[in-house]
Amino acid sequence: MVVDRLTNKCSIWTRACLFNLGLEHFFYPTKKNADVILMFHNVLEKTNLALNMRNIGVADFERILKYLKRNYQVVTLKEILETPGTGQRIAITFDDGLVNNLHHALPVLEKHQLPATFFVTTSWLAGRSTLWPDELSRLLQHQRGEIHLNEKIFFRKYRNLFVEKTTGERLESVMQEMDIDAIDQWLDDLAQHCGYQPAHDLTREDEWRVMKGEEIRIMSQSPMISIGSHAVSHVNLKYASDDLLKDELTESKKYLEQVTGKAINDFAFPFGAYDRRVAEAAVYAGYHNLIGVEPCAGDLPISNCPASRYGIYNDISTTESLHRINQLFS
Ligand SMILES: [Zn+2]
Repeated sequence: MVVDRLTNKCSIWTRACLFNLGLEHFFYPTKKNADVILMFHNVLEKTNLALNMRNIGVADFERILKYLKRNYQVVTLKEILETPGTGQRIAITFDDGLVNNLHHALPVLEKHQLPATFFVTTSWLAGRSTLWPDELSRLLQHQRGEIHLNEKIFFRKYRNLFVEKTTGERLESVMQEMDIDAIDQWLDDLAQHCGYQPAHDLTREDEWRVMKGEEIRIMSQSPMISIGSHAVSHVNLKYASDDLLKDELTESKKYLEQVTGKAINDFAFPFGAYDRRVAEAAVYAGYHNLIGVEPCAGDLPISNCPASRYGIYNDISTTESLHRINQLFS
């Protein structure tokens, strides 16, 4: 076990050295043609490891983009989804639509002239400036000790990740099964318990604030950018009632079309979560392209099968992320 861990650390260190020297190609003597869709979330001035895995620093983001530009064809999502290709193609996507996308991701994409699709939540429609998983992240930074929810006990496994004591279920996954009012109530109780009120702390808005209509409009005007929907309130749609599912799909589409003046044809499922009912409802709502995270689940007709993506997170180094991207073509 210890030997395995040391070997693994040694391999990571060797790869990092080779990447830094520009000699990493020895690891990938041949590369096959393939299409890969990458998924980012938040780009901050500096990575905040204590907050959640979804953010990376702007310097790391730029390093990734420069590498992709040198080594792959970076194309639009539409091109990958709608045009069969024979090259080594990568499309860049972002989920959630936090304002850091406008402040930090867009300038770097424009600087390097690389296209990207942003899947935006329209939570302002429901009067919310933040998404519940981000509110949870902020609260957990201030939490000391165990957390109790639905007769389960969660503890901090590392950084801001809380898991159930016996099953190892992630706190956030258990919360996904609750309805949004119950989530709000529970987050209020947690805020009381840990003595921190996110709603009273308006600093560091890049870490939590969702883009407003005007900001989405500015984003959509960039020739490098296309906008897709990520629903309204970032609930797990598998657990939503038929009425809520319909509202999440249609209200976000209508609002984004009104704000951008363009057709919104792409939809990315919050948490990458869907089933047959959810995928069919998205098609019925008028979306042409459905985007998930994992490879398409079994019982869906191929025409409704959401595309899968590879997520970039801060739990591994930038060179390890690049290594894993290269492996997708090996
Ligand atoms: Zn999301």
